[in-house]
Amino acid sequence: MSRSAHPAGPRHADVLPEGHFPAPPADLNALDPKIWARTVKRDQDGVVTVGGIPVTRLAEEFQTPAYILDESDFRARARAWRSAFGHDADVFYAGKAFLCRAVVRWLNEEGLNLDVCSGTELATALSAGMPAERIAFHGNNKTSAEIRRAVEAGVGRIVLDSFQEIVRVAHIAQQLGTRQKVQIRVTVGVEAHTHEFIATAHEDQKFGIPLAGGQAAEAVRRALGLDGLELTGIHSHIGSQIFDMSGFEVAAHRVVGLLEDIRDEHGVELPEIDLGGGLGIAYTSDDDPREPHEIAKALTEIVARECEAARLRTPRISVEPGRAVVGPTAFTLYEVGTIKPLEGLRTYVSVDGGMSDNIRTALYDAEYSVALVSRTSDAEPMLVRVVGKHCESGDIVVKDAFLPSDLAPGDLIAVPATGAYCRSMASNYNHALRPPVVAVSDGEARVIVRRETEEDLLRLDVG
Ligand SMILES: *Cc1c(COP(=O)(O)O)cnc(C)c1O
Repeated sequence: MSRSAHPAGPRHADVLPEGHFPAPPADLNALDPKIWARTVKRDQDGVVTVGGIPVTRLAEEFQTPAYILDESDFRARARAWRSAFGHDADVFYAGKAFLCRAVVRWLNEEGLNLDVCSGTELATALSAGMPAERIAFHGNNKTSAEIRRAVEAGVGRIVLDSFQEIVRVAHIAQQLGTRQKVQIRVTVGVEAHTHEFIATAHEDQKFGIPLAGGQAAEAVRRALGLDGLELTGIHSHIGSQIFDMSGFEVAAHRVVGLLEDIRDEHGVELPEIDLGGGLGIAYTSDDDPREPHEIAKALTEIVARECEAARLRTPRISVEPGRAVVGPTAFTLYEVGTIKPLEGLRTYVSVDGGMSDNIRTALYDAEYSVALVSRTSDAEPMLVRVVGKHCESGDIVVKDAFLPSDLAPGDLIAVPATGAYCRSMASNYNHALRPPVVAVSDGEARVIVRRETEEDLLRLDVG
């Protein structure tokens, strides 16, 4: 069975051919600032600290595994996105990357809006005081109950994803005596993955309404004809972990083409365009993500250029970064349990978590880095595979990496860039208790999502 491999996927095959081992880094003790949260460094004893707190102390106080999140880094990145786009655009943080009430408060304070895609994400946002008008509701199969809840709450935007939903939202809004602001999500035929993108006429996926075959134009026609809806714009999201802006260029070109058709057919210029998220971060030193201000400049120019060519007023842009805000701000702290050298292959290092706290490696062949963080070492590098404690041979956290050869049980190691899609995709496989998220800022650490307990699990098991 082939795993759903990323098209730009692993840079080397599963079994490394002789002489093709990735080169060990020059200094195993170095922490590449590209892949670690901003306040991460080593103290004079060689222990890694974050927000001024040694990881050894964090492990003692909160146990392992734990997600350690640098709050000041989160806020700085959120602010950078906000200021990069200025007041003529909106930044919606994609809550599915990682959402909890503390995060909602930070976003609110830093002036970001929020994407949710379930009733429970919506409830989390509202319970932490995110103003409803700054929430966008996404999803390819929102239930009527979820739609009703969103309309009642007064969310600023529902992103329509199917013909059924156009009618459903209009009906519910009308029942509630309101007019709901909506965008229509279209698929533009751009598949973007990391270093490459493919522009096609069709897109074979469950999200959105295809531009192809006039389907999106028909969706617009229907939405404009319904009293319960106020169609404000067109939405496009082309993929994830993207570094190359040219995919956005093709997407913007095609979306603006639709806006042009809408003007010509209906005499209206829709005031908004949403280009989605998917902006890449560095998981390893090989990745080179762009800064928010470069991305903002590129996207703004692309849209302005396309609109000028189509003689359209430039619509208000929104973007929806998830990973690029939270991903780099956290690392997962693990304790080494067993170490198994396999002659001529590699050394298996087992940690006290695994695919239950980071499914991305198993699911997407994702690449990660790892470092020994409880001390430094001058020992020779050894090629390792960091694996979890689950009953599954695909339970891999870091596929290929180097750690010092004097690594020992009890050492703490950390996997950086686990802020996005790790806690939010965590499972209870093998009845694992999902790890806590500990926010660190200015010498203080506090739990923002607590560790699950046996009682939590047993309470669900009603016997
Ligand atoms: C997942 C998703 C995002 C966020 O993607 P990232 O890769 O985390 O930036 C934004 N918008 C939509 C519609 C999404 O589905």
